[in-house]
Amino acid sequence: YAAKQRNDGAVVYDVAMDKSSAKSLSLLTELRNAAERNEFRLHVQPKISLDTGKVVGMEALVRWVHPERGNVFPDEFIPFAEQTGFIRVLTRWVMERSAELCRELATRGHHLKVSVNLSTRDLLDQDLPAKFADLLTRHKLTPGSFCLEITESAIMDDPVRAQHTLERLSAMGVDLSIDDFGTGYSSLAYLKRLPVNELKIDKSFVLNMENDEGDTKIVRSTIDLGHNMGLRVVAEGIESEAVWRLLAALGCDQGQGYFMSRPIPADQLFSWLEKWRPPVAVVAGIDEPDV
Ligand code: C2E
Ligand code: MG
Ligand code: MG
Ligand code: MG
Repeated sequence: YAAKQRNDGAVVYDVAMDKSSAKSLSLLTELRNAAERNEFRLHVQPKISLDTGKVVGMEALVRWVHPERGNVFPDEFIPFAEQTGFIRVLTRWVMERSAELCRELATRGHHLKVSVNLSTRDLLDQDLPAKFADLLTRHKLTPGSFCLEITESAIMDDPVRAQHTLERLSAMGVDLSIDDFGTGYSSLAYLKRLPVNELKIDKSFVLNMENDEGDTKIVRSTIDLGHNMGLRVVAEGIESEAVWRLLAALGCDQGQGYFMSRPIPADQLFSWLEKWRPPVAVVAGIDEPDV
């Protein structure tokens, strides 16, 4: 970016900056305004145990409801929020909303784990473990009510610092998950070194796996790898009953996908939970619930 830090700490913007920087600057302003105007929304996608069909948790996924552009999806602004450092503001917001949701669910008798996506910048924040501990205290939650999802690229940026932060978080008792597994670099080295509990198979291998022998082989091997390392294995991108059944047969522990539910506004989760009935066929062998 064209912003330069002066010796006195002030930030000056280079007048000669290119068009894309000008655009970036206004996007950053828009993101800041969005936070002030409460334009971010917390959506959640249920996470399901593939053998019983029971809901075990949900992933927090942020949405931006823009007054003119409508729903802006995270892929359009998260990378930019990461580059500019705005992501820390956003992560704090998502963590806060997720903690509120978790507390409310627990009060209503649903003990579900919430998964929150973290970015590189979050992992480089030395105060993250302390901020997280404070969040738990304020919302009367145990560290076990959270799972923090990280991507391999987030770890790659500054592996030493990232590992240090992750070890402190893990020592507190929070679950750690490697997101989008199989799409990054050095997956296996990180898997060995980091204190993770869960591995999430990227949806690109899952979406069409019942028609793609190559995908099925990759998924099968990843499930075995995860289990051999003592990890829980989760598949994202389950869009059909056939894929659910295939994953369950391969021993995959949990899954999320449009077949079960698209990400929904957090306040709709309660009614979704009341209505949720897993398809009988996928949980065959388990007694049908009395409905
Ligand atoms: P992710 O963490 O891998 O999240 C899973 C993405 O897959 C979500 O996209 C979800 O809507 C989508 N998905 C789930 N099931 C299916 C399915 O059956 N079919 C298809 N086609 N897609 C499915 P979403 O919500 O657009 O988020 C995209 C990415 O943006 C996330 O990928 C995550 O990396 C990032 N993201 C979202 N919310 C946050 C956040 O609060 N903080 C950070 N740092 N990143 C976030
Ligand atoms: Mg994720
Ligand atoms: Mg993912
Ligand atoms: Mg993904």
